[in-house]
Amino acid sequence: MSARPKIFGHLMTEVIRKGTCVSCGSCAAVCPVKSIELDAGTPKLVGLCVACGMCHANCPSVGFDEAEMENLVYGRVREEGEAHLGVHMAIYAVKSKDEAVLASCQDGGAVSSLLINFLSEGGDGVVVTGLEEDAVWVATPVVASSKEEVLASAGTKYTSSPTLVGVGSAVSDYARGNIAVVGTPCQMRGLSRIVTGEKADAKIRDAVDLKIGLLCMETFNHESFMEYLDGAGVDASKVSKFEIKSGRFIAHTGSDEPYSVKLSKVKDNVRPCCHSCSDFTSEFADLSVGNVGTPDGWSTVIVRNERGDAALKATEKAGLIDVKPLEKDDKDLEIVTKLAKKKRKDAEKHLASE
Ligand SMILES: Cc1cc2nc3c(=O)[nH]c(=O)nc-3n(C[C@H](O)[C@H](O)[C@H](O)COP(=O)(O)OP(=O)(O)OC[C@H]3O[C@@H](n4cnc5c(N)ncnc54)[C@H](O)[C@@H]3O)c2cc1C
Ligand code: SF4
Ligand code: SF4
Ligand code: SF4
Repeated sequence: MSARPKIFGHLMTEVIRKGTCVSCGSCAAVCPVKSIELDAGTPKLVGLCVACGMCHANCPSVGFDEAEMENLVYGRVREEGEAHLGVHMAIYAVKSKDEAVLASCQDGGAVSSLLINFLSEGGDGVVVTGLEEDAVWVATPVVASSKEEVLASAGTKYTSSPTLVGVGSAVSDYARGNIAVVGTPCQMRGLSRIVTGEKADAKIRDAVDLKIGLLCMETFNHESFMEYLDGAGVDASKVSKFEIKSGRFIAHTGSDEPYSVKLSKVKDNVRPCCHSCSDFTSEFADLSVGNVGTPDGWSTVIVRNERGDAALKATEKAGLIDVKPLEKDDKDLEIVTKLAKKKRKDAEKHLASE
């Protein structure tokens, strides 16, 4: 007799109450009876549970076996030289050639350019992270289908958004059958489970064509982040862009001098789940994009598989981006490896101290 599947109650005890829920929304996206909703980032059972086990099987925070997932996603495990950055083919410095993209994006606009090209090649939706209209800097999933919509959601939100709820919605509510998804490493892990795992969701698997992961060291708890800004005299409603650069946290507030403080000063706002997260470079995606490793105004793009390579080359061929290959031993890339090592070590230390 096969063992009974683990269900939402197990997620409650093994993940949510332990503080390791990353609020990715994977559980809600795959629940066949739509009985899970996220309330301020916390999954809640809001209806009947038919004990199918989909939510537990697709949660990135339970028993995630990296080698098993590497085999499923890439058909091989990482080699010795890939210990810190995960499976990859090549690394590039990328910059958009489009003034409209450069005016809206966070760094070099690689992500938005890839998405714009994906839509122009027949993709019928991209799941990105925008801001709620009647709230201050509350990140929310958005299903975009035009260049304008992609650019309206460009730029980094340093709080979390349940991206995979957006993926579920793109497929079920908007009937999109060919989508790209942008997300943090934890979200890419959830998505990889949904599309390749033991209990994959067939509809989502068939719809997801491109996975773009972001580099991510941490995200902030929205409430305490807003309180922090308030205490520091920063009117968050006037902030046009947040960024983390050279160890400093910066809030741009229009014409005034930007608010800038040592990153360590805002670390108290980091979500508890991020302390046990070991993935800096979105190790389970077609492409991973960040800012460290390349000069200001450029994006660092790690191409992990053929799908990622094809997406980058097509975007370059369409004339949307400048692309410069980076050697694996490029001096500037050392910081990416250093941060990836640090994140893994810090997570191990944190888990050992529990
Ligand atoms: C929470 C967070 C932490 C990060 N930390 C680092 C870091 O430590 N080091 C580093 O090198 N890079 C980090 N990045 C990546 C960096 O900020 C840029 O997203 C990346 O360089 C791409 O720049 P771009 O100009 O190509 O992106 P753009 O063209 O501006 O596109 C950015 C895309 O990211 C999406 N997005 C924004 N916020 C979120 C979010 N919270 N969750 C999911 N998707 C989102 C947007 O909707 C958009 O589609 C982080 C990103 C996030 C979201
Ligand atoms: S029905 Fe399935 S996915 Fe939904 S809560 Fe129950 S076990 Fe989880
Ligand atoms: S699937 Fe994501 S949102 Fe759901 S419990 Fe796991 S980590 Fe939290
Ligand atoms: S640090 Fe890890 S858990 Fe936190 S948002 Fe980034 S990828 Fe997710």
